Amino acid sequence: MTMNAKTDCLTDRFGRTVNYLRMSVTDRCDFRCVYCMEEEMTFVPRAQLLTLEELAFIGRAFSEMGVRKIRITGGEPLVRRDIDKLLHDLGRLPGLAELVLTTNASQLESMAPVLRDVGVSRINISLDSLDPDRFKRITRVGDLNKVMRGIESARQTGFRRIKLNTVILKNRNHDEVVDLVRFAIDKGLDITFIEEMPLGFNNDHDRAEVYYSSDRIRVDLEQVFTLIPTTETTGGPARYFKLPDADTRIGFISPHSHNFCEDCNRVRLTCEGRLLLCLGQEHSMDLRHVVRAWPGDMEKLKQAIRDAMQIKPKGHEFDLKAKPLIFRHMNSTGG
Ligand code: SAM
Ligand code: SF4
Repeated sequence: MTMNAKTDCLTDRFGRTVNYLRMSVTDRCDFRCVYCMEEEMTFVPRAQLLTLEELAFIGRAFSEMGVRKIRITGGEPLVRRDIDKLLHDLGRLPGLAELVLTTNASQLESMAPVLRDVGVSRINISLDSLDPDRFKRITRVGDLNKVMRGIESARQTGFRRIKLNTVILKNRNHDEVVDLVRFAIDKGLDITFIEEMPLGFNNDHDRAEVYYSSDRIRVDLEQVFTLIPTTETTGGPARYFKLPDADTRIGFISPHSHNFCEDCNRVRLTCEGRLLLCLGQEHSMDLRHVVRAWPGDMEKLKQAIRDAMQIKPKGHEFDLKAKPLIFRHMNSTGG
């Protein structure tokens, strides 16, 4: 179905409404998490990155077409220079209900107040272990103390519903799920456990071998906690549970054990301006070409976005045992 220019709504061929955009503002990062990147990475040359102005222009186009939520991600978004300027521009878009950010928290100690001031409404923080040595092994270089100070700063700044994102790998951190939930309860945070997705080549581990399903995590947690299912949804892939006597919500993102494509409401923009229609497929539209060939032409850009809806695939085809079909790593995709 081709969208009418006057209809402020993006719908794909399967009737799914797209109202959520994830923007990767850089593929660079100060960590090298084993499931996300190789130890030695080649990053996109700066000239190929969308400028902050181009990112803001594309964000405006989406918001005028019915996108209500933009998540800024990467790579590590807080290592992009002048990121606060982009956030400031996006934070003022009238159509946008939520501007949110995913970060490894390495820069959050100083950045949390800035993020609040420019209009970021919520923050997701990646945290895979509470043990400094393990944390360093998983992130290859990360300093857990710095991340903890970042989490504290976000709390003190007054951010509500801060959510931890935790990728669980068998024999790396699967035995920490109860402690991580206790930590979340203690700090008044939500937590989502994520199954590793096969994006890019991985020399660190065999993905099938370290697979630890959401169902197994649930069983482990239910030895200690009572998980109450909720119908709550963010329009995304996570299934949420409540606890009887704490405000913490526990989510599970399970691309392997529970396919979530039917309700997909999102698209992703890579830092090079490729609009990815599905995390697990290569269908995409080159928006950088459009904004550079027709600078300032909002209608051309919107038409390209409408056209892109026609190639949004039905779903992903992740297979842990096969060679990865998707060659890009998560840092360039914008997780
Ligand atoms: N650097 C920021 C961070 O780590 O929060 C934002 C970008 S990171 C790519 C976004 C999220 O993707 C993180 O929560 C990370 O744990 C997750 N992630 C990275 N690679 C993944 C993979 N192969 N499978 C599942 N989740 C992954
Ligand atoms: Fe960096 Fe985030 Fe990827 Fe870790 S998951 S390497 S913090 S982009």
